[in-house]
Formats: sequence, structure tokens, C-alpha cells
Amino acid sequence: MTIHSQDIIKFLEKAASKIKKNKEFLTQLDSAIGDGDHGINMDRGFSKIMSTLDSLKDKDMGTILRTCSMALISTVGGASGPLYGTAFLYASKLLNGKYEIDMNELLEVLKAALEGIQMRGKAVEGEKTMIDAIAPALKVFEEKLKNGASPIEILEATVSAAKKGVENTIPMKATKGRASYLGDRSIGHQDPGATSSYLIFEAMLETLKEKV
Ligand code: ADP
Ligand code: MG
Repeated sequence: MTIHSQDIIKFLEKAASKIKKNKEFLTQLDSAIGDGDHGINMDRGFSKIMSTLDSLKDKDMGTILRTCSMALISTVGGASGPLYGTAFLYASKLLNGKYEIDMNELLEVLKAALEGIQMRGKAVEGEKTMIDAIAPALKVFEEKLKNGASPIEILEATVSAAKKGVENTIPMKATKGRASYLGDRSIGHQDPGATSSYLIFEAMLETLKEKV
């Protein structure tokens, strides 16, 4: 399967709409272990991305994702803005001048995004952050890709792994970000950032499903 620039645009539209639909939910999750703004932050960032999409329709994938990165970093006040912004920035570096990629390249792009988040936030798995959804999801993506699964099978397994990753954050104690201020009291709550990452993977799956 070939993924084109226009698929990236569709993915961004889907991600923005999912974030908007889940704005209250994400904010509720963040109220339990943070400052109750994750939904607001993410919706502000993705709304800004939406407002720039018209000017990006004929651009290469690198330009599209770099513009998203700047939108997130400049409009999202919370920790998640620079973290997702760096993810998009690192992803964009592999896509300069490209108008299409295959699934192998998509994996590399997603890995670069994860690397960006970890470079920026210094979190590893098990600290109750978005990493706990993204890292296991990418492991499964890579496994399925190696085993010759179809793009939809790959993304379905990726989304399931992200969902499982989100659930796994519930018993974790936060040791990074605002939730870490709560110490043991962060235990028993689902991480908002892991949840938004899961929604973003779902948007990827839905975009690919519309292509086949
Ligand atoms: P803030 O915590 O500044 O209010 P948000 O509420 O928008 O920002 O985002 C909170 C989410 O950011 C958390 O649920 C967590 O998943 C993620 N997060 C916080 N710190 C880190 C970090 N160092 N690395 C990765 N993700 C992090
Ligand atoms: Mg917050």
C-alpha cells in the first residue's frame, strides 16, 4: 500500500475530529491526575492544524508534518504540545520532499516520532505517559510488518496494542509529568496522554481502511 500526502491530510482531519469528540473525556482524565486541560490543549492544537490544512494540500509530507509541529508547539500550552510537536518534527525530517511512502517507511516515521517524544520528555515505558501507548504499539507494528501482515492487519494490531497500553497505565504510578506530583495517588487512573495517542493511532487505521 502506498500512502500519499493526501492520506496524511485525511489522517490529520480524522485525528482532529476524534480529539474534538473526546475533548471532555481527555480533560476529565487529566482532572484526576493533572490540571484538567489535556482535552482543551489537544483540541486547541489540532484546531490550529485544521486551520492550516488548506494551504498544505499540494505540499510534500515533510512540509505538512513540520507545519503541524509548529502549530502544536505554538498553540498548546501544556507538556503535550512540545511533546507531540517534537514527534511531528522528527517524523517530518524523514519526509522532506516526499509525496508518498510505503508501510516500511511509515514504521520508520513512527519510530522517529517516538524518538522525538523521548528526546524531549526523557520518559521510558512504565512511567505512565503517552510512551506507554506508543512504544508497545510500534513494537507490534514492526512484528506484524516483518510477518508479512497486510497494512490493515498491521494497523489493527497496532491500535489494539495502543489500547492495551492505555489500560496498562491505570495501575502505574506516574514518575514523569504533572501526574508525578501525586505520587501513589496517581495509581488507579488512566493516563490522558496515552489516551490521546491511542486516538491518533485509531485515526491512522481509519485512514488506511478508507483506501482499501
Ligand atoms: P500538562 O501536564 O502540562 O497539563 P497535558 O495535560 O496536555 O500537559 O498533557 C499531559 C500528558 O502528557 C500526560 O498524560 C502524559 O501522557 C504526557 N506527558 C507528560 N510528561 C511527559 C513526558 N516527560 N514524556 C512523555 N509524555 C509525557
Ligand atoms: Mg494537563
